[in-house]
Amino acid sequence: MLTGRTALVTGASRGIGRAIARRLARDGATVVVHYARDDAAAKEVVESIRADGGAAGAVRAELPDELDDLVRALPDELDIVVNNAGVVARGTIEQIHPDEFDRVFTTNVRAPFLLVQRLLPRLRDGGRIINISSGVTRAVNPELIAYAMTKGALDTFSKTLAQHLGPRGITVNTVAPGAVDTDMNADWLRDNPDSQAAVSAQNALGRVGTPTDVADVVAFLASEDSRWITANWLDATGGGRL
Ligand code: NDP
Repeated sequence: MLTGRTALVTGASRGIGRAIARRLARDGATVVVHYARDDAAAKEVVESIRADGGAAGAVRAELPDELDDLVRALPDELDIVVNNAGVVARGTIEQIHPDEFDRVFTTNVRAPFLLVQRLLPRLRDGGRIINISSGVTRAVNPELIAYAMTKGALDTFSKTLAQHLGPRGITVNTVAPGAVDTDMNADWLRDNPDSQAAVSAQNALGRVGTPTDVADVVAFLASEDSRWITANWLDATGGGRL
């Protein structure tokens, strides 16, 4: 149980982050539901947590530009930081525009790096950092080259931080989902039986992942039961493209 713990989940207004926020709150944590633009969605997440008897509040901040706003709104001490906010960039190396390359690195790499840098003094010893990467750093997809590179950087960030923060009893782990039915994939996966069948066929467990599938793995890493696990890259793809 996470009673008495405080958790920050970035990008928690929708998709995987929403499911993580709800699950950590269900486990007893007080959750900061961070988001960038979607006020209504963030409000709905906070209300759904409170309706279930949990504790949560929302903080809006476009990362990394409004990092100061987020840091200012956070409690003095945190136990769990989940770097989940992210964006995708689709295209091969021939197709990715330099601005798109910068945008995806700014959100997926620069933001979590600067956020953790700012939060280290506030993160309690024995705490948890969990970074949401992607299965594409294991099973390559040339059409996601820039996105995969950002997640590769995040994987290295996790492992290096784990070594650095070990003396404080802080664990740092990575969770790598495969294709999950969220807004990020609405254009090709949602309500598209052909795409869903194709993803399922490439997946040992034979179906598309859900936000809850990923949130449950994160909950384990946030819990006391995971205390002897650090610097791990947890494949949460359901056996995608083995
Ligand atoms: P969604 O697109 O559904 O949600 C993205 C969330 O991130 C939203 O809450 C959004 O806030 C927030 N966000 C986006 N950009 C910023 C920014 N610049 N600053 C602050 N917040 C931001 O994404 P998913 O739930 O699908 O993905 C969550 C994570 O999981 C990402 O890191 C993604 O790369 C990773 N992942 C997703 C997979 C998938 O198939 N969906 C597969 C593997 C990994 P708001 O809505 O308010 O703008």
